[in-house]
Amino acid sequence: MKAMVLEKPGQPLQLLERPDPLPGPGQVQVAVSACGVCRTDLHVVDGDLSEARLPIIPGHEIVGTISVLGEGVAGFKIGDRVGIPWLGYSCGCCRYCTSGAENLCDEPGFTGYQIDGGYAELTVADARYCFALPGPQGDAESAPWLCAGLIGYRSLVMAGEDCQRLGIYGFGAAAHIVAQIARHQQREVYAFTSPGDTAAQAFALEMGAVWAGDSHQQPPCELDAAIIFAPVGPLVPAALSAVRKGGIVVCGGIHMSDIPSFPYHILWGERVIRSVANLTRQDALDFLALAPQIPVVTRVEEFPLDQANEALHALRSGNLTGAAVLRP
Ligand SMILES: [Zn+2]
Ligand SMILES: [Zn+2]
Repeated sequence: MKAMVLEKPGQPLQLLERPDPLPGPGQVQVAVSACGVCRTDLHVVDGDLSEARLPIIPGHEIVGTISVLGEGVAGFKIGDRVGIPWLGYSCGCCRYCTSGAENLCDEPGFTGYQIDGGYAELTVADARYCFALPGPQGDAESAPWLCAGLIGYRSLVMAGEDCQRLGIYGFGAAAHIVAQIARHQQREVYAFTSPGDTAAQAFALEMGAVWAGDSHQQPPCELDAAIIFAPVGPLVPAALSAVRKGGIVVCGGIHMSDIPSFPYHILWGERVIRSVANLTRQDALDFLALAPQIPVVTRVEEFPLDQANEALHALRSGNLTGAAVLRP
C-alpha cells in the first residue's frame, strides 16, 4: 500500500510503499476512502506533541470500508462503512476505563500518533474504536466528523445544558460543526476569529453565528460559556472576561501556547476553566446519531494522498475554509 509517513518531526512526510497491514485479534483492516487533516496532525508533525511512535502514519479522521476482519470481531462485516477517531485504544482496566471515562485512560493509544493512521490506502484499527457511519453524507464530508466533530461535540456538552449564548474562539473545522449543532439546539453562537480575519467571520455568520468579530473584542452581550479551539493561551483570559458569573470556558485543543497570568477577578464569580481531552465511545455514538439528523454539513477541500504535505501547509498557513481531506 501507499502511505505518507512521518519519520522525524519537523521533516516533510515521505510517500512510501508499505506492506499491507493485517489485523490481529479484535482488529479490522479498513480500506481508507478519506482521511481528514486535523490541527493535531500538525502538532504531531511539528513535534509539539512528543510521544509519537516513529515512524508513524498520521491521520485520525478516517472513513473507509472494512476489508478484512480479525479473529473474534463481532458486529461488523466486510464492506461496512466505518469511521475511526483519535482515541484508537484504551486499556479497559484502569480507573478511568472502568468508569466510562476511557478518554482519560492511563495507557491509551492514539490513531496517527502511536497507532498508524489514515494517511494511507489501508489501515488497521481496534474494532472497539470503529464506528458505523450512516449515510447519506459522502466519505470526504464525513471525515471531519471523526475528530473535529467529536471533540467539538464533547466541548459543547461541557459548555453546559443551560448555555444559551455560546462563544467560539477560532472558527475552523471543529467550530463550523459546533455552530451547526448549537443552532439546531436553538443556542446563539458568537464567533471570535484572529483580528481582521473577515473571511472566517463571514464563514461563521454563514454557518449560523449571530455575531462574529475579532478575538480581542467584547461580544455585544455576556456569554454563558465559551469554547476555545485556537491553540492560543491568551484567549483564555479573553474568554473569561466575556463569560458571565458561573460561566464556563472550555479549552478544546490538545495543545495550547502558555496562558498568561490574569487578575483573579475575571475568574471570580464561580467561573470555570476546563479542558476537553479526547473522546469516549459514548460521545462517538451520540454524535454520530445526531449529526445525520441535523444534518451536519462540512465544507471540505480535497487533496490527493501524496499531497499530504501541501494539505498540512494549507492548514498551518490558515489558507483553508473548512477542513482539508486526503483521498487515497
Ligand atoms: Zn484505561
Ligand atoms: Zn484531531
